[in-house]
Amino acid sequence: MKITIHRGTDQIGGCVTEYEHKGWHLFVDYGEELSSDPETGELQVEGLTHGDLSKSALLITHYHGDHIGSITKLPEKLPIYMGEVAREIQLVLSNHLKTVFPAHKEMVKLLQNVQTFEPGKAFTFGPFNIRPVTVDHSAFDAYAFRIEADGVSAYHTGDFRLHGFRSSKFFKMLEQYIGKVDYVVCEATNILRPNATSKKESTLQREFEYLFKEKKSTVVYLSSTNIDRLFSLYHAALKAGRPFYVDKYQKDIMDVVVNSKSMWTKSPFYQYGKYEPEELMYNKFDKNRFFVSDSFKEYLDKKGYVIIARSSERFDDLLEQIPGEKQKVLSMWDGYVKEGTDAYNENLANSLDGEYDNMHTSGHIDMKDLRRFFRLLQPKAIIPIHTDSPEQFAKLFCDEWPVIRLYDGQSISLTSIS
Ligand SMILES: [Zn+2]
Ligand SMILES: [Zn+2]
Repeated sequence: MKITIHRGTDQIGGCVTEYEHKGWHLFVDYGEELSSDPETGELQVEGLTHGDLSKSALLITHYHGDHIGSITKLPEKLPIYMGEVAREIQLVLSNHLKTVFPAHKEMVKLLQNVQTFEPGKAFTFGPFNIRPVTVDHSAFDAYAFRIEADGVSAYHTGDFRLHGFRSSKFFKMLEQYIGKVDYVVCEATNILRPNATSKKESTLQREFEYLFKEKKSTVVYLSSTNIDRLFSLYHAALKAGRPFYVDKYQKDIMDVVVNSKSMWTKSPFYQYGKYEPEELMYNKFDKNRFFVSDSFKEYLDKKGYVIIARSSERFDDLLEQIPGEKQKVLSMWDGYVKEGTDAYNENLANSLDGEYDNMHTSGHIDMKDLRRFFRLLQPKAIIPIHTDSPEQFAKLFCDEWPVIRLYDGQSISLTSIS
């Protein structure tokens, strides 16, 4: 089996990996580069972007734009596979964005033909045996893959972490479904971010619960598809006795999760409690505004609230109209609102207006947990991707494992190492 990292040996966004055996091509992820990436431009890959596709397939680890965002540029007949709930969430997201971004209109169409796999259930494609396993990440229904062909096995991690709500079962699941592997193709996002918070999601949830009890009116800005954070905030608001408000789009995303048959949604955490999240009403006469009646204002004044907001004119206007001394919280990486960074989001910074608390924890694994993970998996070698410093990664882990530093487009043969 041969591996080629077409992109992502030296950057975080837009990783594209190919496993090849006997003329069959199995690709993993085809997303967009991030603004902080060096910009490699459009990829030209035989068997993926052009040429004979009869022995090609693409697996998507999760719905973040840097993993799925460019699939609309691929030839229509390429078979694509992803998680079922992830596809549903992507569909709600793309339907929401399609009027503004034409690529999302394409995405809605394309998703109809995307096939789904089930967690833990192995399937084959040509000579490849593929086992998707569910991982904890800031995207729901995210996967890692055990890929085996020619007697060689690789574990492709996707984006993941060990400090989330769903991490406690991870090691058991690895034992049960993955076992030992020859190679780990591993995300290493946080290698240059030693201070990235890897506080437990459960600790963060308790902090939110205290905050909601203490402050009557809180407005939280977070990524609308960060499902675990969203349900965490919802349950924290329930416990604190504060009404929890979202707009229709956000509620649709929550409904997808609640109504899904995912193995996780049996847990009460992904279900609604004694009352459902309340939907903010739209103004019938001006669709850029929410409807704010006097009785609504009185109710908010009496009970307080937790509002899940996004940086938009509609939310800015709502916050101006409703009562209460609002505590704003940014529950995302704060690089988005730091002027001068590549990821700077001016609208979000304006909505927060400099007065906010940052309550967040990373969607990616930290280096301490990564070592724990490698010790369990005992790979013969590690190939870092999704990282801006493969060298630093190699330095950190080469004391225990060989680290193979690949370059974009370079292929190597993976052999069964004994
Ligand atoms: Zn991700
Ligand atoms: Zn990513």
